[in-house]
Amino acid sequence: MNKQFRKIAVLTSGGDAPGMNACVRAVTRAALSRGLEVIGFYGGYSGLLNNKMKTLNHGDVSNIVNEGGTFLYTDRCLEFKTEEGMKKAIACCRDNGIDGIVCIGGDGTFRGATDLSNHGIPTIGLTGSIDNDITASDYTIGFDTAMNTVCVMIDRLRDTCESHARCNVVEVMGRDCGEIALRTGIACGAVAVAIPEIPFDETAAFEKIKTLRAGGKRNFIVTVSEGLGKYGEELAKKIEEATGVETKFARLAHVCRGGRPTLRDRLTAAEMGTMAVELMLEGKSNLVVVEREGKLVTCDINYSHIVDRMYKNKLKEGDLDPYSAEEIASMKELCAYRKAEIERLYAMVGDLA
Ligand code: ADP
Repeated sequence: MNKQFRKIAVLTSGGDAPGMNACVRAVTRAALSRGLEVIGFYGGYSGLLNNKMKTLNHGDVSNIVNEGGTFLYTDRCLEFKTEEGMKKAIACCRDNGIDGIVCIGGDGTFRGATDLSNHGIPTIGLTGSIDNDITASDYTIGFDTAMNTVCVMIDRLRDTCESHARCNVVEVMGRDCGEIALRTGIACGAVAVAIPEIPFDETAAFEKIKTLRAGGKRNFIVTVSEGLGKYGEELAKKIEEATGVETKFARLAHVCRGGRPTLRDRLTAAEMGTMAVELMLEGKSNLVVVEREGKLVTCDINYSHIVDRMYKNKLKEGDLDPYSAEEIASMKELCAYRKAEIERLYAMVGDLA
């Protein structure tokens, strides 16, 4: 063990996700087991700016492995992005003898983690996001719980749709990522799914609903990702007009974020939390722990940002300059794989409806 390494901090930042508590617990207990001290910052990066923190001992993370939300709270802290804010954050780490920080959150959180590591504070990022929107990772903590929550809600809507012979358009979370809408759409037998990644064929959806209604089908579910803005509400009206099937709109919104984490999210939180502590003790920094084909591996945070931008067609000039031809090829391969997966699943919706 690195003798200099005495004290680590942990924080949760950005949008909350079920399993964040289990992850904080894992980081804390794994660190304590290895003889480290642990500090929990409250409210994400705002805790660093306002000195809001607590020493975490074994009992401080008791009874949270199964709790939704995050007991360390989370915040969207704009001041942290400023030079002044960063100075305060670094001073807070120095004053409190913090040797490294585990940052649990999404893409924005990882940018903050990079800034800290660039200023000499080692950071490890863990993916806590219900959206499954980190391109470098197959999975983010909270995704499974959110999808299970959505399934329960849609099953209820289906019951009442069947009674009344209705259609229900259901908007689910996913900032600019359609993963929740797509996978729950399949799992809940949706007749159509609208996501930002793939153009929605309205005419085909209307025709399908009309044909199925003519064949006697009473209930219809359409899932829509929030990433499409107000489209879900519009689509409900259009379906009713075009098909004559009475259509309701439901926005599940923050319901998707709450609830006790599933087994999948608890296990991933435990694995990732433990790995983050091990990486810190190995002297690693500016890495994010990602899942690839069922295994946890690490990826440079900058690489993760760039591959995200590549996937979303938002690359800026010079973004790829630091990378070798092989690295760029591997980024392209990853983006192509993600896109192909989405297209494969999307086609399945049509086949199974
Ligand atoms: P998420 O981590 O879920 O993507 P946000 O985008 O809200 O959520 O980011 C969480 C926090 O991370 C922000 O409130 C801010 O403190 C920090 N952050 C976000 N973007 C940046 C950035 N470009 N540079 C530094 N810090 C950032």
